[in-house]
Amino acid sequence: MNLEKQLEKLIKAKYKKTIKTCTDEQLYDCVLQLTKDRMAEKPVITGKKKVYYISMEFLIGKLLANNLINLGIYEELADILKKNGKDLTAIEEVEPEPSLGNGGLGRLAACFLDSIATLGLPGDGIGLNYHFGLFKQVFRNKLQMAEKNDWIEKNSWLNKTDTTFEVCFGDRKVTSVLYDIDVIGYENGRNKLHLFDVSSVDERLVKKGIDFDKTQIEKNLTLFLYPDDSDEDGNLLRIYQEYFMVSNGAQLIVRELKEKGRDLHRMDKYVAIQINDTHPTLVIPELIRILTWEEGFTIDDAVKVVSKTCAYTNHTILAEALEKWPLSYIEKVVPQLVPIIKELSARVAKKYKDPKVQIIDGEKRVHMAHIDIHYGYSVNGVAAIHTDILKDTELHHFYEIYPDKFNNKTNGITFRRWLLSCNRELAALLSEAIGEGYKKDARLLEKLLEKADDGKVLNAIDDIKRQKKAALAAYIREREGIEIDPESVFDIQIKRLHEYKRQQMNALYIIHKYLEIKGGKKPVRPMTFIFGAKAAPAYVIAQDIIHLLLVLSEIVNNDPDVSPYMKVVMVENYNVSYAEKLIPACDVSEQISLASKEASGTGNMKFMLNGAVTLGTSDGANVEIHELVGDDNIYIFGEKSDVVIEHYAKADYVSKDYYKKSPVIREAVDFIVGKQALKVGRKENLERLYKELLNKDWFMTLLDLEDYIRVKDQMFADYEDRERWKRMMLVNIAKAGFFSSDRTIEEYNRDIWKL
Ligand SMILES: *Cc1c(COP(=O)(O)O)cnc(C)c1O
Repeated sequence: MNLEKQLEKLIKAKYKKTIKTCTDEQLYDCVLQLTKDRMAEKPVITGKKKVYYISMEFLIGKLLANNLINLGIYEELADILKKNGKDLTAIEEVEPEPSLGNGGLGRLAACFLDSIATLGLPGDGIGLNYHFGLFKQVFRNKLQMAEKNDWIEKNSWLNKTDTTFEVCFGDRKVTSVLYDIDVIGYENGRNKLHLFDVSSVDERLVKKGIDFDKTQIEKNLTLFLYPDDSDEDGNLLRIYQEYFMVSNGAQLIVRELKEKGRDLHRMDKYVAIQINDTHPTLVIPELIRILTWEEGFTIDDAVKVVSKTCAYTNHTILAEALEKWPLSYIEKVVPQLVPIIKELSARVAKKYKDPKVQIIDGEKRVHMAHIDIHYGYSVNGVAAIHTDILKDTELHHFYEIYPDKFNNKTNGITFRRWLLSCNRELAALLSEAIGEGYKKDARLLEKLLEKADDGKVLNAIDDIKRQKKAALAAYIREREGIEIDPESVFDIQIKRLHEYKRQQMNALYIIHKYLEIKGGKKPVRPMTFIFGAKAAPAYVIAQDIIHLLLVLSEIVNNDPDVSPYMKVVMVENYNVSYAEKLIPACDVSEQISLASKEASGTGNMKFMLNGAVTLGTSDGANVEIHELVGDDNIYIFGEKSDVVIEHYAKADYVSKDYYKKSPVIREAVDFIVGKQALKVGRKENLERLYKELLNKDWFMTLLDLEDYIRVKDQMFADYEDRERWKRMMLVNIAKAGFFSSDRTIEEYNRDIWKL
């Protein structure tokens, strides 16, 4: 049916109105329905073999614009609405954001689903239907407060199915319900994101903020993403969630195989299961349990076929992030898996004596990653340097046993969301300059290099950047109540707040600049420093860093000597929707993690694609960005990963030495507990942060601070060579094609899934 007629019919049936007389909310409701109807018409992608991507997080973000683009009807619908005096972007704003993830790992899973469908590969996501996504961040008295973040409305992208399974926690039985979200490929067919839930979940359990009763599993299992894991109840709930997800997933996979009449003994010929970080690891013993208890397999046969079906992606080398559950916790939650885990562990112990590769260690803790490595057929890191570190250091003992299992899959991002949707102007310019081909084959972006000396194209890229900066300035004025100068340089650091990502180093640079300006050294062009970050509620130092950023924002923005030259903005509640507004407006992309600690990063890729220039360390995918754009189009500073790893091995890094040696460092660090800061900030938080920097500084902020200041100053100076900078923007866009998640998924399929 004609799109306009279809929409009018929906509106008439639901609201007895016309497009013109509807509110934006009513229009959103009807456009959502229309989009879902159009999606349902798309053929389900099929094939002999199918991948199941299991992940505790799918940070999908708002879906309307993306689905319209992938259906190929965005422009047509925008025109229809415009003709009737309505604005599609305003209607997009009505959609609540599903924040079903914490950050990069969950966002990656969402990009992957888009690419799997776009490439026409059969592949579904399996996850949980959290009633409250990642908490909503609000600032009160310059401190982060966490509030519950609901997103499910009566009419939403969720489709309730008839599928239910029983999941046993010992002798307690819970019945699941399955909701599906359709995933449409770009000009391609349809896959599904399966989100499991329990109907007995009780949202009234939530007390103040995001506190809730953690003891009543039937009522809280899918209530929240990532409960606080600092106490035993929290830990237990996490295991309940993990097992609930994988048990449902395993039952779904087995049922689909049987429905197709497949021989379960040859499961690996029909199914690949990708385990996104260790959270879904229990799918391995759960599948073995199902095959032996319910399908009559011998344990040997079950272990063999499951080991040929499951593949593991490692996302981090941070020790505290590698899951190790006390066996007693697993015993409490899923006693039925304990004999299987013990058997898997015993088989390893029989073959390998090295304590470093055991599944159950001397303290009776279960190392989840070790299950994945021994009983999966592939282990991949997420950027070249990360995979090298896994092989050489972190997982070296495993690499010696299984050299062929290890492989690299450098992360990627979907260009549909991070270019076509969030920067339509740039996408249109690219189409005009190099043709539409890049939308299907991102590597074709390199054709843009032919325009590197074309003044018209360079100026057009710059014009779009200015337009996006003006739009962001207006948005920040409205949302944050802060006035920023669109002619200033926009320097942006947005990502989860973590010490290894070193927002604190950026803060020290800001203090340094502030003091310089106070001392009379004014920059040629004003600078705007923008941050966005949520900190885990239990992560004390991360909260303190947020406090410092808010303190600096108040001091700098209210100082009449300084504020004409610089502004500091910490945006509230950074999420996918905010990222889509910030990234197209960025000049300087801050990617300053301590070398070796950021597995890949994907924010770095989004920025580059939108014409920002990276200021970063030799870490994660920055290394590959550097190789692609060359020395002249990126700013790299700081110690390399081998130096950092050696410091850790020798435990010889002493931050105080750097503090004592350098007056610049001293002055900046002392400012944190100086009179000015204490006047607007809280002593407790600022002093704790100060002491942390001086006495611990686990992530070596002071090691790289001077080099950071030097290179960042150079970068700001180079910004004034406008012609050169425009060229840098162009080269970064042209070289971003490698980071399309379509390329990543092609590699997963070629090397691991073989669909
Ligand atoms: C891309 C993205 C991330 C990951 O950013 P990194 O800089 O790679 O850590 C986190 N949160 C949101 C909302 C994102 O869109």
